[in-house]
Amino acid sequence: MKVEILAALRETDGYVSGQDLCEKFGVSRTAIWKAINQLKLSGYEIEAVQNRGYRIVSTPDILSENELRSIRKTKWLGNKIIYEPVMVSTNTKAMQLAEEGVPHGTLVVTDKQMSGRGRRGRKWETPAGLAIAMTFLLRPDIIPNNASMLTIVAAMAVVKGIEAETGLRAGIKWPNDVVINRKKVCGILTEMSAQSDYVNHIVIGIGINVHVNEFPEEFQDMATSLDSEYGKKINRSALIERICEFFEDYYEVFLQTEDLAAFVKEYNSYLVNLNQSVRVLDPKEPFEGKARGITARGELLVDTWESRRLVSSGEVSVRGLYGYV
Ligand code: ADP
Repeated sequence: MKVEILAALRETDGYVSGQDLCEKFGVSRTAIWKAINQLKLSGYEIEAVQNRGYRIVSTPDILSENELRSIRKTKWLGNKIIYEPVMVSTNTKAMQLAEEGVPHGTLVVTDKQMSGRGRRGRKWETPAGLAIAMTFLLRPDIIPNNASMLTIVAAMAVVKGIEAETGLRAGIKWPNDVVINRKKVCGILTEMSAQSDYVNHIVIGIGINVHVNEFPEEFQDMATSLDSEYGKKINRSALIERICEFFEDYYEVFLQTEDLAAFVKEYNSYLVNLNQSVRVLDPKEPFEGKARGITARGELLVDTWESRRLVSSGEVSVRGLYGYV
């Protein structure tokens, strides 16, 4: 009921009378009073005025299943929300849950990720209470070869979510780093369990620096956070909800063609590498060229002095010639 009370209080800027809440949920005044007190204990500032009722004054930046459910607007993404204050990694947790049979669309969220991962075993830092660490669990009927394109769909959803929530225009460093002012604000890691021609499940992990203002020395020059770019505090749950809304819509578009045809133009408009010189860190043979945008399969087109090459994501990273972008 706490979720529904929160949602009811948010429907108006004014007061909601205790009587209305009782009638709406078919419970006693005392039950409402108790639920309101529990909400206050979890950090919500709720004002109670005699003869007028309850009013929500401020929502703290707490992550919880109740908070996420009370603001949820999506159709299927987040139909099940698994929140725990501490997890090893949201992708690892989602993979375990997938084996146990949790449904398509499950959203896994934590406040403190002990051992977040980037690609190729690299570490992703998630300081407690200061970041978003979440994973979407999907069970799409697509061929395994097409799964990596979902990373690009997720990057677009993050950029659009940030823009909707803050007005900040973020960019994308191919394939999936979201950057602001040429610094990384978000990393995305897609992992999959599949047979040769069949996907069991896919997990898409998204890590966003929200309130973080100090980074380890190794990457402090190439990392930033939303708060420092925005100059104000951002509410993590609200941003999660926005990103989920965009991802859900984009995912449905992606499934129609199982490629990125519908996204190429918009993705390229966010691509910070577009028409820039890049160094492609191909483990077999690194090379340099000018990035020309992505194909409908999400590969990066790179013109070298002798030919045009198609770079697939996965094992490859791209850097600017003189720095991270
Ligand atoms: P790449 O940029 O090569 O694709 P990954 O997506 O695998 O890298 O991300 C891992 C890298 O990101 C780490 O090696 C580290 O340099 C950097 N990193 C780790 N945590 C953070 C963070 N919270 N914010 C920004 N960058 C980070």
